[in-house]
Amino acid sequence: MSQPHKFKFGITGCCNNCLKAEENDLGIKGGVKPSWDKKVCTFCGLCQIVCPGKAITVNKADKTLNFSMEKCIYCGKCLKVCPTSAWSGEHGFIVSFGGLYGNRITIGKRLLPLIFSTDVLYKVIDVTLAFFEKNAKKGERFANTLDRVGWQLLEKELKEVL
Ligand code: SF4
Ligand code: SF4
Repeated sequence: MSQPHKFKFGITGCCNNCLKAEENDLGIKGGVKPSWDKKVCTFCGLCQIVCPGKAITVNKADKTLNFSMEKCIYCGKCLKVCPTSAWSGEHGFIVSFGGLYGNRITIGKRLLPLIFSTDVLYKVIDVTLAFFEKNAKKGERFANTLDRVGWQLLEKELKEVL
């Protein structure tokens, strides 16, 4: 497969994101989709304190915990801090598209939910590279291709492999 221009991958194991995955044409970060077990929760509130997405609200008096999946950034900190293992999680890949670092800096967009299977991840990579080869002008970076032809075209092709 010959590509119209360079295409950078940024792959990092967790949401600490030392590598700045989203500033690459295709970024991959490890993430965790958490789930909560009310039966073993003591409502200590630690998970609320560490949650960077403000996705967790604990009411100690009422013994309630609210969790917003929309706000969760899949960092897994709640799993690590919970003293009773009330949080568990499914590990997956957070993928971003069209990032750039250089003269123009853009943060890649997340067009897909968390991916749990490596086979699906490989298909997503194949579709993305084929899209770039098919649509990019010679010497054009991926973000500029997507701005020109429309991000929704890539999104549509990606969703077909999920
Ligand atoms: S850290 Fe664990 S025990 Fe404490 S409120 Fe959160 S889920 Fe419950
Ligand atoms: S995975 Fe991270 S962002 Fe999501 S609820 Fe847990 S601590 Fe908050």
